[in-house]
Amino acid sequence: MKPVPAGGFAARVPVAIVGAGAAGLCSALAAHEAGVETIVLERDAVPRGSTALSAGLIPAAGTRWQKALGIADSPALFAADINNKSHGESDAAIVDLVAREAGMTVEWLADRHGLPFSLVHDFDYPGHSARRMHGLPTRAGAELIDQLRDAAERAGTTIITDATVTSLYADGARAIHGVEITRPDRARDSIGCQALVLACSGYGGAADIVARHIPEMRDATYFGHRGNRGDAVLWGEALGAELRYMSAYQGHGSVAHPHGVLITWAVIMEGGFQVNAEGRRFSDESRGYSEQAAVVLTQPGGIAFDIFDTQIATVARQFEDFRQAEACGAVIEAGTVAELAERLSLAPRALAESFAEVEDAKRSGITDRFGRSFAGRKALLPPFKAVKVTGALFHTQGGLAIDVSARVVGVRGEPLPNLFAGGGASAGVSGSRASGYLSGNGLLTATVLGRVAGQSAAELVRRRE
Ligand SMILES: Cc1cc2nc3c(=O)[nH]c(=O)nc-3n(C[C@H](O)[C@H](O)[C@H](O)COP(=O)(O)OP(=O)(O)OC[C@H]3O[C@@H](n4cnc5c(N)ncnc54)[C@H](O)[C@@H]3O)c2cc1C
Repeated sequence: MKPVPAGGFAARVPVAIVGAGAAGLCSALAAHEAGVETIVLERDAVPRGSTALSAGLIPAAGTRWQKALGIADSPALFAADINNKSHGESDAAIVDLVAREAGMTVEWLADRHGLPFSLVHDFDYPGHSARRMHGLPTRAGAELIDQLRDAAERAGTTIITDATVTSLYADGARAIHGVEITRPDRARDSIGCQALVLACSGYGGAADIVARHIPEMRDATYFGHRGNRGDAVLWGEALGAELRYMSAYQGHGSVAHPHGVLITWAVIMEGGFQVNAEGRRFSDESRGYSEQAAVVLTQPGGIAFDIFDTQIATVARQFEDFRQAEACGAVIEAGTVAELAERLSLAPRALAESFAEVEDAKRSGITDRFGRSFAGRKALLPPFKAVKVTGALFHTQGGLAIDVSARVVGVRGEPLPNLFAGGGASAGVSGSRASGYLSGNGLLTATVLGRVAGQSAAELVRRRE
């Protein structure tokens, strides 16, 4: 944090936005639409962020895509699912806000900015009581970030790349006056602003902050964007902002090992299961992939095997990541359980028993010894499929506490004068644990809160004009 420079700023802009991921770009689109000039400052040469690494799926309730398929859903049902998954720990006002605004945000991105969303209609995500995941054709975050960047450029917003924000200029009243940027050649510049949006995500790329707040993931592979080094929380701390849910995160218990490719949880939810290196099941996989990361890491060697079949692979193949996993040889196929055991170097008897247990549970409809119900799931049929996987940290869910205008609030609940945050920079809606993460909470808060932050920052600037 630096005092306002005596000589003023090299340049000035009404709204500055740190980070060009989904949150930053939605923020820029919204502020620009409100008639206020913005600059997005991005550390990388090409904006990608964790957004590019994701499956690009945004949950939203009551959308026209759902209506077209006759899917009954509502913001209230969505909010109840978020609260249920986060054990009622999340900020109720923020949960209501994101559940209410997600539908209009996805429709805004589609109708106003030309992003061709469709609904993932052929499988259920854990914890969602309706099919409400919306994605672009490839079901890949790389397409989402590219389309958002194109939309921002088409709209005429300015994105400055290779510009790492290294400090904020603030006064004693905690008003932000500008930012310092550092270029790859270490040259520094300062840009003045009337309002600042922090969209520089969380602290997954800061091993020390992860170790302090999320010790169970200190040795896990970090699968998110390395440039997310906790700058928002460090600046927030220095400004006396409240930090919330710092132990919360999105993990994933199904990352192909050693290939490092995400294997969609559809392979499990559609009737597949996981065994450990001894060929034995060890959990109720259907609780969620996020909490499963730490569970998989406690198994021998920190690995597990996703077991499914060809019909399930057909559903999974809609995801670019899964297609890549197949292309790089991560997905093993075998005609019998014994052959599968041999190919995976698992004890044949243990694997056969695990298969039998799952198929019995499907036939009988009785909840298994881990508490998983396989109701409605089809029997696995040969040829069978398997992937060796591990657990990984995808992104952190703690961050700056905000109000319903996405304005950052201080430790006594007071709003800071002109600082806003959204996406991974702000506190999420997943409570304080990995198990509180409902699929899609990441891009939900990035797109909705990013948009709200941009609108609010623009409104503040216009009020002061
Ligand atoms: C493998 C994977 C799969 C996922 N799948 C999904 C999914 O399907 N659905 C879902 O909802 N969520 C998913 N997530 C989570 C989701 O990707 C994130 O929650 C979301 O992308 C966060 O968006 P963001 O804009 O806040 O951050 P990011 O997209 O990470 O963008 C932050 C940007 O800020 C930049 N930055 C950081 N610090 C600075 C600085 N000091 N100065 C300038 N720039 C800076 C970074 O370079 C980056 O470009 C997944 C995450 C991973 C890793």
